[in-house]
Amino acid sequence: MSKLFIVANLKSNKNEDEAKTWLETFKKITLNQEIISDKEVIISPSFIHLNLFRDFILQNNLPVKLAAQNSSPFGEGPHTGEVNAKQIKDYADYVLVGHPERRNNFNESEELLFKKTDAAIAQGLNCIYCVQGEDSKIPAGIKLIAYEPVFAIGSGNPDTPENADTIAKNYLDINDEYLILYGGSVTSQNVANFTKKENIKGVLVGGASLDSEEFIKIIENA
Ligand code: PEP
Repeated sequence: MSKLFIVANLKSNKNEDEAKTWLETFKKITLNQEIISDKEVIISPSFIHLNLFRDFILQNNLPVKLAAQNSSPFGEGPHTGEVNAKQIKDYADYVLVGHPERRNNFNESEELLFKKTDAAIAQGLNCIYCVQGEDSKIPAGIKLIAYEPVFAIGSGNPDTPENADTIAKNYLDINDEYLILYGGSVTSQNVANFTKKENIKGVLVGGASLDSEEFIKIIENA
């Protein structure tokens, strides 16, 4: 059985001081390591804070991994403003691909997402491939899928655990090696309703992860 995945997506939030405060509070979990021993806890800060997070995690021996929130479809070269998978690999083990905010606010097409996935996998990164429903194609090489319905993101209106579980089951019918996470208005109050479902193997948390004490409660309650 795989560990439960608990992913914090900090999105485009926090300056350096705020990121340090988040980390210092988060460090409290090391006092009680068993709450995360059976979980794969992944934090996804802004690119600009990956270095800070990586160093803090190493210095404090925190049993957590990092994810980049995005990654270039290109390799190294003349791609101003892009951060490529080889660069990310120095900092993170995971990368989010196809987050609804990127699909919808930056018009990222499936074709582009497939290129990003290929580039990330070629560098040994694990992709967390976000889908909004059942009509998304999944690129080859993907193992982790996050079902993130748009209506549930940042709305305080999560999908029902039953529906999320059905969607997860439908993906598993296509490939039983997939691990399906749910994302959308997850909090410490509702997380267990999702994680106790048979086909849901973890959660992707946006807004509620901005407060690291709440994120710790989510990890504890999952
Ligand atoms: C997300 O952005 O991935 C997300 C799930 O956001 P929220 O938890 O705020 O709905």
